[in-house]
Amino acid sequence: MEIVHLDVIPLSHTLPEGEGVGDARGFGRERATTLLRAETDTGRVGWGETFVPGRIAKATIEELFRDDVVGMDPFDVESLADRSYTDPYHFGESVFVQSAVSALDVACWDIIGQEVGRPIHRLLGGRKRETLTPYASTMYFTEADRDIAEPIERAVEEGFTAAKIKIGNGVEDDVRRVRTAREILGDDATLMVDVNGNYRPEQAVRTATAIAEYDIGWMEEPVPPENLSGYRELKRSVDIPIAAGEAHYGRFEFKRLIDDRLVDIVQPNLARCGGLSEARTIAKLATTENVGVRPHIWNSAVGLAAAVQFAASVSDYPHTRNVPDPMVVEFDRSENPLREELLEDPFDPTGGVLDVPQGPGLGIEVDEEAVERYRVE
Ligand SMILES: [Mg+2]
Repeated sequence: MEIVHLDVIPLSHTLPEGEGVGDARGFGRERATTLLRAETDTGRVGWGETFVPGRIAKATIEELFRDDVVGMDPFDVESLADRSYTDPYHFGESVFVQSAVSALDVACWDIIGQEVGRPIHRLLGGRKRETLTPYASTMYFTEADRDIAEPIERAVEEGFTAAKIKIGNGVEDDVRRVRTAREILGDDATLMVDVNGNYRPEQAVRTATAIAEYDIGWMEEPVPPENLSGYRELKRSVDIPIAAGEAHYGRFEFKRLIDDRLVDIVQPNLARCGGLSEARTIAKLATTENVGVRPHIWNSAVGLAAAVQFAASVSDYPHTRNVPDPMVVEFDRSENPLREELLEDPFDPTGGVLDVPQGPGLGIEVDEEAVERYRVE
């Protein structure tokens, strides 16, 4: 079996004027990502996603990968991640190379799973769990002036038992948002906060100190992803677990976060980190320093499906059933048809429990007509 055709498919959806959503750094109206469709000489079709702008994704795959991947046996999948650091030499660690590898790698795993008739999580070292705990990613900063309580109330109505909210707009506003979310969610729910790297370390410490009483599951990207000394400083002075990883690429960047214990939780995104092969390497590195692993998801339904398969395979080490630490997976609750419309059977995170798809490969069926609806060149 060999791959004979690659189609790089940029997708975009623009929210109506005034309906932009975002984080403390600002908001936007465009939801965009890039899918990869790989087809084999046996007629199998595998899907992957690369979470960078379409034209860059296309150029990277055309220039650096097409010649090697067309004609490749998908079972040689791990060679993609391994080779990405040496060929292209010197820039393999870059976001664009690792994001391109992510799409190619996930598409290969999707094909392998179909070929052997098993879901990917059964191939990544085995099934660790059959259900996951979805969390609502919500309370965004919005272009329109909106009630901050409403999205949390809706998440509770939908049955979510965990949520992550945006903060990072100054300590007073942070406390207001966290207090509102905690009051609505109740004491038993898990509540995480995301600063999106909008603070300097001293600002992050002020907020972390002020919100600690609200039992925060993790504080995500309190400082910018490249500010490693900032993470070191925070780890010394903050009681809340620190998480990062959505803007880190490949095993070497994650190794720095893990080896120096700059964070408590790493968050690889399956459309950026190098794919499932690299995410598995990152997860194993994390266990060597007892760092947690929780995937970051701000993707289309394809990247979401890859993250779900990955999450189902991640070891609980070192926890036992006596120390509940559920594997949470992120469900962005803002409007995004690229998440809702691309699958014949979309994921349903409501009700507080997500069943891991047990079909072969990614366990999804992509609606190719829907893909074409959002395709941009
Ligand atoms: Mg984030």
